[in-house]
Amino acid sequence: MTERFRVTYATLTADNPGLHAAYEDGVRAARNRLGATIAPIIDGETATGGEPAVLRSPGDTALVLAEVRPATDADVARAVAAARAAAPAWAATPWRERLAVLRRAADLISERSPELAAIMTMEVGKNRLEALGDVEESADLIRYYCDQVEAHDGFDRPMATIAPRETTRSVLRPYGVWAVISPFNFPMALAAGPAGAALAAGNTVVLKPSLQGSFSALLLTECLLDAGLPAGVLHLLPGGDEPGRALVAHPGVDGLTFTGSTAAGEAITRAFAGPAICEMGGKNAAIVTATADLDDAALGVARSAFGLSGQKCSACSRVYVEASVHDAFVERLVKHAETFAVGDPLLPGTYVGPVIDAGAVTRYEDVVAHARSAGRVAAGGATMTELGGFYVAPTVVTGLPLDDDIFRRELFLPLVAVAPVASAEEGIALANASPYGLTAGFFSGEQSEIDLFLARVEAGVVYVNRPAGATTGAWPGVQPFGGWKASGSTGKAGGGPYYVQSYLREQSQTVV
Ligand code: GLU
Repeated sequence: MTERFRVTYATLTADNPGLHAAYEDGVRAARNRLGATIAPIIDGETATGGEPAVLRSPGDTALVLAEVRPATDADVARAVAAARAAAPAWAATPWRERLAVLRRAADLISERSPELAAIMTMEVGKNRLEALGDVEESADLIRYYCDQVEAHDGFDRPMATIAPRETTRSVLRPYGVWAVISPFNFPMALAAGPAGAALAAGNTVVLKPSLQGSFSALLLTECLLDAGLPAGVLHLLPGGDEPGRALVAHPGVDGLTFTGSTAAGEAITRAFAGPAICEMGGKNAAIVTATADLDDAALGVARSAFGLSGQKCSACSRVYVEASVHDAFVERLVKHAETFAVGDPLLPGTYVGPVIDAGAVTRYEDVVAHARSAGRVAAGGATMTELGGFYVAPTVVTGLPLDDDIFRRELFLPLVAVAPVASAEEGIALANASPYGLTAGFFSGEQSEIDLFLARVEAGVVYVNRPAGATTGAWPGVQPFGGWKASGSTGKAGGGPYYVQSYLREQSQTVV
């Protein structure tokens, strides 16, 4: 018997035949799941939910994936009550036991990764490498948070004794019920990460995924429950904005993690009384200086701008290039935009799949029309819906005024604008002149410029000279991922060493 292919960060490469074979098996397994009903799961039981909505593939709009029965207000209330009822026992479960269940869940996710990735490809249009990456990242996020709890002995440590007979401990304790509201673009990792951290910390969880990521959230829930998580500890509430709003307003929710737009995150922060971890938008810049390796810079920017059709919070959407190399850089970037394969994300060679829905195609058309009048479309600019899904071409725009809307607004589209600047310093200043501060990239062969960038850049995740992705591709335990300014609410990054503590509150226990 041949050894089962194991997807890991290291084996995630396009030239790996084992990976493609495993993924094709996954596609076959995924097809058997099509037509599923995705309804609330409360206390391990599937509820009826509300008026069904049909979930279709953005890459093939004729393909029906599932029927979603959204959580009603009554479902939200029942799930929160059930999570409250289960909270004391889960918090009291020794942390080693909690971690054992979660690590089992991570292993189940890894074992099932080809099937989970294939469903994700159909569901949100993510190409096979990125879908496998999202699934494996989910497992690694859970593992990483478990490792953090273990490394800190369950966050229970002795403090100093100054009075006779008094002993004091600092203990980090869970809040109770944690709501996780997750987005479509990383439909597994951005549910598994916050849920994994909350659960490892000893909270119970109610998960409200994006409607378009419902299937991936169902599969994640299955893996966690199959691993032996007690049924009261995790509840799934599929649906659109409604169940999310109901959760934010529910007094029984103690803490909340939201990943999505800045406007929604700011509204949640205002409305929600407890701790709210919000990961929000980005308008991520790359800066290319005259001393940069232009091949690396163009490849890194193209991958970050066009991967997942620009629908990552971390996507690069603006580039500031020193004037003397502007044209040479644009020429290289245009070549990538024109040669990255666009189309059915289930196919092996596809780099750029569809955008998520018809609204995104319309947004693309509007932005391209504006780009044509305010600047120049150097590559792309076409919609390609004749391919049977929501396809648009990777697009490069030049010649825009520096204060153009395209340089300021998060678009979530495969469109990048490039402008010449006089110096690295000007590029860094322009990168920082944004309310956002999520990721940033820098390409230079000059150490003093790199030092300047690292000292001045206002972003939570920064990369220097990285062709694998100028601004994208953070991995748990390697690149902590969190935003500054309007991009994040806490300054503590997912997949980093200070994250799981955000799901805990400190208690000082003095005993005489
Ligand atoms: N972690 C992903 C990356 O580094 C981005 C996640 C997001 O878009 O929210 O590219």
